[in-house]
Amino acid sequence: METISVFFIGAVFGSFVNATAYRTVRNKNFIFERSNCPVCGKQLSFLDMVPVVSYLLKKGKCRYCQNRIARRYLFTEILGGINGTVCWHMAEVLEAKILFFFILNFLLFMALIDIEIMEIKDIYQLLLLILAAVTISIEKWSINNLIGALIISLPLLVLAAVTESIGGADVKVFFILGMLAKEKGIMVIYLLTIGLASVFALYRLQKGSNRKEEIPLLPFIYLAFLTYKGFEKYLLNCVILWLT
Ligand SMILES: [Zn+2]
Repeated sequence: METISVFFIGAVFGSFVNATAYRTVRNKNFIFERSNCPVCGKQLSFLDMVPVVSYLLKKGKCRYCQNRIARRYLFTEILGGINGTVCWHMAEVLEAKILFFFILNFLLFMALIDIEIMEIKDIYQLLLLILAAVTISIEKWSINNLIGALIISLPLLVLAAVTESIGGADVKVFFILGMLAKEKGIMVIYLLTIGLASVFALYRLQKGSNRKEEIPLLPFIYLAFLTYKGFEKYLLNCVILWLT
């Protein structure tokens, strides 16, 4: 029951993150505007906005105009719910759980923007950096935070400088997450990111898409970080076993 409540609270945040990203990309006001159907413009009532449930009950269609509602609404609500559930079950103290929840949702926000315009503003990275720094301060800073920050981001920075295979924003996010997850954690996150992105690239290739097309990396970094936080102990044990 507790997990279900946490999932739904998370899903409400996921829905908010989705709307914020959608309106940010389109330069719309996102604080004072109420939610409406993107096709017919009809303002949505409370019943239309119960995360996940509304979408499934209405079979992904608008109640007023019967047009299909994009699947990103359902996906972001589910991901928001998973963000909440993962953070709730973390071993960290309550303050850290809440901060990790904000970090995950902020990464989801950046991922949604990356999918649409592939351009991440510096201010978002700065906010992520501050969130990460505050989270680490709750535990204790150590040399491992610095090693984690550099171990992946430094080689990637070199790659970004001499080739165009990776974006500057991705390098900065690896720096920040490395600081947060320390060296073993960021190696897991990096491998998961590359793994997920490769699977997606193969899937797209198989669907007959242009081979040279760029792939936004932030969605995969977000998913990798979420997976890492969900199975942190298990994944870190695997790394230790593998290294020894
Ligand atoms: Zn509609």
